[in-house]
Amino acid sequence: MALKQGEVYKCSDPDCGCEITVSKGAAPGKGGNLAPRCCCGKEMVKK
Ligand SMILES: [Zn+2]
Repeated sequence: MALKQGEVYKCSDPDCGCEITVSKGAAPGKGGNLAPRCCCGKEMVKK
């Protein structure tokens, strides 16, 4: 699940509520497969 431009990710902890928007995606085939992680330590999920 490489990051793509324009995607919005939300922290999986509802008490945190942090959201990020990808301003630039990973190059095709180079982005790996890891979910982004919030500053609180939880994985972020695509909105
Ligand atoms: Zn968080």
